[in-house]
Amino acid sequence: MSGTLRDRICRLIEIGGPLSLADYMHLALAEPSCGYYATRPAIGAAGDFVTAPEISQMFGELIGLWCVDAWRKLGRPSPFCLAEAGPGRGTLIADLVRAAAIDPAFLKAARIVLVETSPAMRDLQRKALGPFALPHPPQWIDNLDRLPAMPLILVANEFLDALPLRQFVKRNNAWHEIGVGLNDRGVLGRVVLPGIADPALLPAAAAGEPEGSVFEISPAREAAIATLAGHAASHSGAVLLIDYGHLESGFGDTFQAVRDHRPADPFTDPGTADLTSHVDFAALSRAAADDGIRCILSATQGEFLVSMGLLERAGRLGAESSMETRKAISDAVERLASPRAMGELFKVLAFASPAIDLAGFPQ
Ligand code: SAH
Repeated sequence: MSGTLRDRICRLIEIGGPLSLADYMHLALAEPSCGYYATRPAIGAAGDFVTAPEISQMFGELIGLWCVDAWRKLGRPSPFCLAEAGPGRGTLIADLVRAAAIDPAFLKAARIVLVETSPAMRDLQRKALGPFALPHPPQWIDNLDRLPAMPLILVANEFLDALPLRQFVKRNNAWHEIGVGLNDRGVLGRVVLPGIADPALLPAAAAGEPEGSVFEISPAREAAIATLAGHAASHSGAVLLIDYGHLESGFGDTFQAVRDHRPADPFTDPGTADLTSHVDFAALSRAAADDGIRCILSATQGEFLVSMGLLERAGRLGAESSMETRKAISDAVERLASPRAMGELFKVLAFASPAIDLAGFPQ
């Protein structure tokens, strides 16, 4: 099929009827030739949005220290898989590896595996890791199912928000799934799909919600977590996931598009804007509750980073710097940890098997 991604999606709808929101999101983000992650530089000041690792090296460094600490508490397994899901430009993994050099045995034991579907992003990640003399070359896989059968330490920042979601809306006292279709002027947008939603997909509180209320689920995110929990339960491991979202499940429409650092319409020119939604950390915690998983912890990003030593690291970095650099470092601390910026909106979820005392979660 030729034409823009919009033309192709319109043709699919003309032939088969409306798409589910999850299928639309998957096509717009991950279609191999014209999906967003295949075609756009996306992340960083020149892209569409800035992520925590792009704000400051301190973010990846503190996560590197978290990984070394978890590895020691897991009994220094060797070899083990050090993985990142959705590594973007590779900034986090590069900062993580640099900080982890405090324990050379860690990097010697680590088999670095990057979970990435986009060839363009893989190239950036290869370049970011290029300067490091790694004892074992990094590998790329496109799916969490392909993680090697060995102990696992996996981190991911803003990976889950990009996985597809489903939405339901309450209309005439019944819940219906939202899809993507064409109106009579041929404009792409949300439509209410016929049929009543399976009540098993909705929480008990759905019955009391007002008309127009929206509920979101993401089977893809929950499946990703269940895969990681199963892997850690069978082979041992620790997993750290950071994203924006809420610690309690709730109602509301959080589906959003961002282009050039500004909110955009998610249905105009699919493939040219980043599509995400807020992550339901309560649903993820439930998905992580595998038989073998003994500890599941969550915190805000601000609590986690401060507990990992963000302020001390900022002080150390700033100590021998110019006024200008010191100001940039304190601005970065503010953006990463302050409740007014990313500190509260972003949450951190960690789980491990066996039960170990994971760093970064003040009790
Ligand atoms: N972690 C990075 C990038 C976040 S953007 C940062 O913090 O800067 C999301 C990343 O996930 C991109 O690298 C994108 O290509 C990748 N990605 C999106 N969907 C994916 C999927 N289903 N499987 C693997 N990688 C995916």
